[in-house]
Amino acid sequence: MNAGDDRRGQGPAAGGAAAGIGEPRPAASERAELLVEMLPYISRWRGKVMVVKFGGSAMVDAALTDGFAADMVLLRQIGLAPVVVHGGGPQIGELMARLGKTSEFRDGLRVTDAETLDIARMVLVGKVNRDIVGAINVHGPLAVGISGEDGRVITATARNPELGFVGEVTDVNTDLLERLLAEGLIPVISTIGADTKGQAYNINADTVAGAVASALEAEKVVYLTDVAGLLDDVDDPGSLVRRTTADSLAARLRTGRVAGGMIPKIEACISAVRGGVNSAHLLDGRVRHVVLAELFTDEGVGTMITADRPAGRRGHQLNSP
Ligand code: ADP
Ligand code: MG
Repeated sequence: MNAGDDRRGQGPAAGGAAAGIGEPRPAASERAELLVEMLPYISRWRGKVMVVKFGGSAMVDAALTDGFAADMVLLRQIGLAPVVVHGGGPQIGELMARLGKTSEFRDGLRVTDAETLDIARMVLVGKVNRDIVGAINVHGPLAVGISGEDGRVITATARNPELGFVGEVTDVNTDLLERLLAEGLIPVISTIGADTKGQAYNINADTVAGAVASALEAEKVVYLTDVAGLLDDVDDPGSLVRRTTADSLAARLRTGRVAGGMIPKIEACISAVRGGVNSAHLLDGRVRHVVLAELFTDEGVGTMITADRPAGRRGHQLNSP
């Protein structure tokens, strides 16, 4: 009896099931129908680059990380080209605390001296990146972890001398990324950049994801976070903004209704769509397979941001060639 026979009637192995524990699984014919319904979306996204910023709760929950990892491999296997960019602020804070070093924040940014930079680089490149690469490669041997320093992907400069080695992106070199994508691989990028003299900087991952998406002329840049998307009122989870434009977001930034960690995301979304990325998305990383829900449904989920005014209903152009 081969493995296929073994599994007959039992569905995929635990963890691979689409339905939750105890939920009835759709009949085989319904599952086949569902797959056929995916066909127009698969044709639409084939060959398109999608940059995903992995962060928030999704990154610290093993089951959510596993779901995200499976999604990336699935997307790569059906012809999309995902690129993962990750942060790791909380993990850096944790190691700093264990080493007895206190972090000072100014305007939400960690003041980064040489020792803090070393810690950040060790945590991001040596730990968080490895964990994500490992999680993806459980589903298929496709993930390749790199630091923004590798192949000089990210050139950076000091954002503000008072903050030390906190960088801002001055250039994204897509050569290495394009070579990895051409090989069918999934680059996973830690957001450490270097200046032209080789000095390293720690850079906000939201900013890097937007800059990488623009440089790669990506179809989408997707932010996984720990809220449903952009909220009109941060205290009202029901006030999700489903679709908006760069202009309207720029106006919203001036109202103070966007705060904390949402600010660099919104700024990055604005510059990405103005820089040629077709759409930017803020998605709820607490929801398993949320990236697939965005890509494979007409109505989408979370917040979608485009450069121009919303043209009628939100939906993908399923009839385009
Ligand atoms: P991530 O790990 O995804 O970068 P952050 O904590 O940095 O998460 O950013 C997301 C947070 O931004 C939300 O949890 C929320 O507290 C805050 N926030 C501030 N303003 C808004 C807003 N208007 N809509 C949604 N979230 C907001
Ligand atoms: Mg953040």
